Amino acid sequence: MFKKILIANRGEIAVRVIKTCKRMGIKTVVVYSDADANSMAVEMADETVHIGPPPAAESYLVMDKIVDAVKQTGAEAIHPGFGFLSENPEFAKRLEKEKIVFIGPNPHAIEAMGDKISSKNLAAEAGVSTVPGHMGLIESTEEAVKVSGDIGYPVMIKASAGGGGKGIRVAYNDKEVQEGFPAVKAEAKASFGDDRIFIEKFIEQPRHVEIQVMGDKHGNCIYLFERECSIQRRNQKVIEEAPSPLLDEATRKKMGEQAVALAKAVDYDSAGTVEFVASGVDKSFYFLEMNTRLQVEHPVTEMITGVDLVEQMLRVAYGEKLAIKQEDLKINGWAVESRVYAEDPYRKFLPSIGRLRRFHPPGEGELGEGTVRMDSGVREGDEISMFYDPMIAKLVTHGKDRDTALDTQASALDRFHIEGIQDNIPFVAAVMDEKRFRSGDITTAYIKDEFPEGFDGVEPTDKQRLYLTVTAAYVHGVFARRAEKISGRMSEPAEARKEWVVILDKHQQPIELELGDDSAKITIEGKVHTLETDWKPGTHLLEGTIDGESFAVKFADKTEGYLLRHRGVSVRALVCTPLTAKMLERLPEKPKPDTSKLVISPMPGLVVSIDVEVGQEVEEGEAVCIVEAMKMQNIIRAEATGTVKTINVGAGDSVAADEVMVEFE
Ligand code: ADP
Ligand code: ADP
Ligand code: MG
Repeated sequence: MFKKILIANRGEIAVRVIKTCKRMGIKTVVVYSDADANSMAVEMADETVHIGPPPAAESYLVMDKIVDAVKQTGAEAIHPGFGFLSENPEFAKRLEKEKIVFIGPNPHAIEAMGDKISSKNLAAEAGVSTVPGHMGLIESTEEAVKVSGDIGYPVMIKASAGGGGKGIRVAYNDKEVQEGFPAVKAEAKASFGDDRIFIEKFIEQPRHVEIQVMGDKHGNCIYLFERECSIQRRNQKVIEEAPSPLLDEATRKKMGEQAVALAKAVDYDSAGTVEFVASGVDKSFYFLEMNTRLQVEHPVTEMITGVDLVEQMLRVAYGEKLAIKQEDLKINGWAVESRVYAEDPYRKFLPSIGRLRRFHPPGEGELGEGTVRMDSGVREGDEISMFYDPMIAKLVTHGKDRDTALDTQASALDRFHIEGIQDNIPFVAAVMDEKRFRSGDITTAYIKDEFPEGFDGVEPTDKQRLYLTVTAAYVHGVFARRAEKISGRMSEPAEARKEWVVILDKHQQPIELELGDDSAKITIEGKVHTLETDWKPGTHLLEGTIDGESFAVKFADKTEGYLLRHRGVSVRALVCTPLTAKMLERLPEKPKPDTSKLVISPMPGLVVSIDVEVGQEVEEGEAVCIVEAMKMQNIIRAEATGTVKTINVGAGDSVAADEVMVEFE
């Protein structure tokens, strides 16, 4: 086996690869940019090589720097992770020339699968079912309309070089093709420098189901079943699971065998993923594309098969024969993964940047009836920068069946506490509880269908309200008792006070609290509830049982009260005496400052363009400028109709969060 390898990546996936190497006794070298000098991957690696400034184009994407780092450290092979250079055939060829092993497939396979049109043709030849459509390039809008009519609506217009959901559009009629064709062409040109377009049938009730394959250099190839990744936002996966609730044994086998046939057609010799779109109507499925790398969501496959995919990649890259036979593989239980993104679900999922003031993931191992696995590349105190992907962690849970895996995921999310940046945990936690998701009746439009206005938090159920009330009361009671002990005041100790009012947002709930040691009795509307918990001040997660049932609530300190979180619910909590509560009720509400005349940058980033001029009339909702952060371009729109008075920034400027970019009269 290799003695030393280099990891040409960062973050969570670099850490993931190091873990397997450590277990196998392989030394690791990690390359890093200035932004990652103190990262977890750098801390864990045996050796590190600095490769330049934060922008990926000047560091992680520069082949020369990566190759130099290999020569400097004597590493024998490179694991590319995903993204960056992982699917670049030029990189794989370069390594071949330099006699450095690429821990990935042969360059020919990467090249053949790198293009959506050529890979489709290859797939069709290998007997894989492909989406009905026009296999050739389409040159003009007229031709696009004609081809679409022949295929039959709805159709999907796609960029051949497309990826990451860019350069894709659905059209339901001629008019939408007339608009969509030039738009996709322009987007493809801008994003990929390649404006070749094709059109195919849009599959109704589409579900994203993909097959994990693993090949070696001796002609062997197996499939490790499927993952369902239909929970996507703007074609970006958010929640993935394995197996898929849609497939039956026969369909699974058919899909797996087709994936292997395609892999064999290009002598596939590493870990790869064959993506299909499957119809929820009749389980028919069609080849979409093949990703010639390890995939973000590979842990769910590892959890149900017990196979370490990174280990297998290392072994086959070294030249070993696959030791696993198809008939050895069995699906064990169910696994689900949530991608934890640094983004604000309450503000249209805008990227969120800053220091992780607190980062307390749930512990790995058993939780309830399932198990938890955490793949993360950050630690408390780390800075989330604007230069890279917003994904900071993956929370994976496993159970004997789908419900157990999802229940465990929900409980684990309840115990995942982050402060300092915004995170999407409340959103994915809300999905875990949502009826349609639970039923397994999902499509790639799920998020759009169920959260059409975006995410605005979830109203607590009665039981959740009880959890929140009890947590606020207990935490407040314990703090009050501690404050008494410190001040030593004897008259009416707070500990003796039984009557309190818990205010959740605006809802006032009178309660009676009797504190014990690691327990409390809380009376709400005449009903006595018993809380048992070993919570102590200093942590921001209260875990315990209420009337024997276990629960967890996270909280952050606010200048006044606490911010409580449980599942998709997020509330401000205040605990006060009945007298104060009465006074608060009479207090007029503070008016919100009027910011409608200002266009404010919602996050730190880079101004891509300013799309208005001084003196211009702008309608409410009209695009004012574009700010880029974390590889995403965010269109900032006017909050109200008005005339532009001043423009404070220009294209290329960096802006801070809350910076005023444009002002209206
Ligand atoms: P797909 O959605 O096509 O299946 P994946 O979900 O497997 O792709 O994710 C691959 C993408 O994830 C990359 O192209 C990149 O945008 C992003 N990504 C996540 N983490 C990283 C990272 N550490 N380095 C580079 N890219 C990353
Ligand atoms: P990307 O390279 O961006 O990953 P894909 O071709 O894999 O592009 O498609 C992205 C997503 O769009 C898929 O996950 C699937 O949900 C959806 N999709 C793609 N093609 C079709 C189709 N013909 N019909 C319905 N949905 C599709
Ligand atoms: Mg894809």
